[in-house]
Amino acid sequence: MISEIEQYKTNLYIYFNALGGITTSGFAVLQLLRGDYATGIISSMGFVYFSIIVYTLLIHKKYLWKGRGFVLFIPMVILNVTNLHPEFGIYWAYVGVLSFFLVLELKDACIGVSIFLGAIFYVVSLHFPLPVQLRIYASLFLVAIFSFLLSYFINRLLNQVTVLVTRDSLTHAYNRHTFNSSMKRALYTAIRYKTPASLFIFDLDFFKKVNDNYGHQAGDKVLKIVSSTIQNRLRDSDRLFRYGGEEFAVLLNQTNEEMAIKLAEELRLLVEDQDYGIDRTVTISGGVSAARASDQVSSWIERCDKALYEAKSSGRNKVILSHPL
Ligand code: GH3
Ligand code: MG
Ligand code: MG
Repeated sequence: MISEIEQYKTNLYIYFNALGGITTSGFAVLQLLRGDYATGIISSMGFVYFSIIVYTLLIHKKYLWKGRGFVLFIPMVILNVTNLHPEFGIYWAYVGVLSFFLVLELKDACIGVSIFLGAIFYVVSLHFPLPVQLRIYASLFLVAIFSFLLSYFINRLLNQVTVLVTRDSLTHAYNRHTFNSSMKRALYTAIRYKTPASLFIFDLDFFKKVNDNYGHQAGDKVLKIVSSTIQNRLRDSDRLFRYGGEEFAVLLNQTNEEMAIKLAEELRLLVEDQDYGIDRTVTISGGVSAARASDQVSSWIERCDKALYEAKSSGRNKVILSHPL
């Protein structure tokens, strides 16, 4: 799901940069025909730039220089045209303001637009009478504010959607859907680059008793505390997933079996040491397995599950390293 949202963002950049390419090519032809060769050549270079950006987005899924190269073309051409033909060029300044928010990340767009507006206001002050200047300043400023607000809310919405579709609402750990895609990617990377990756699956011991004795809400609170305790201890490259009801998985990238079992043991002790507001110790049992070159995602998980089962059947509150199948 996270990759679908990334793809959606990439698609938007493809459309807007393709639009930039079409616009600059048309503009280039127009200016060359009019005899404004400087603007015509800059616009042609803009067309080449946008073509490269769209190509790398389509083929390599990479947004070169985060799209920042566009400032050399669209804003420059607009500034130049406004300076040369103020009464025609100024109309393009409105498109210029909007274009920053379409092709750049929000922070870059804000910086870019501020500089662009400063430059345009200066050019306008050279060519227009004061009453006209004031109207241009006010209207351009409002277009910038509205574009910013639209971009800001779309960004926020996308971030919220990302959280909703990738995380579990109770514990804020990543959800099962994200687990499947992360495991695929981790296994692919481990095999392709011959780097280690380990999986730790754990389950709360006698959790049914927590619910039965203290109520479902107390049970929910325990799940939340376990999740936050573990998330606080993990590195950025590790991920915690809610695998099932009271079962979690930790995916440890760049971590071999030996390091993984050490960390799993540390997490087990951490969970045991927390205060859950109930008159009972909370413990976990878990299994650890490292990815092997011959693995499928299912075989990797299966080994881990077996180790977890062994931990449960041999007394609980322990972590066990998987044996080769
Ligand atoms: P074991 O040590 O063998 O794992 O015993 P257990 O009691 O933990 O295992 P069992 O599978 O019998 O019970 C799991 C319990 O977890 C039952 C279920 O109600 C509870 N559970 C699952 N999801 C949630 C949840 O979101 N909130 C709460 N409060 N309880 C949950
Ligand atoms: Mg359990
Ligand atoms: Mg269970």
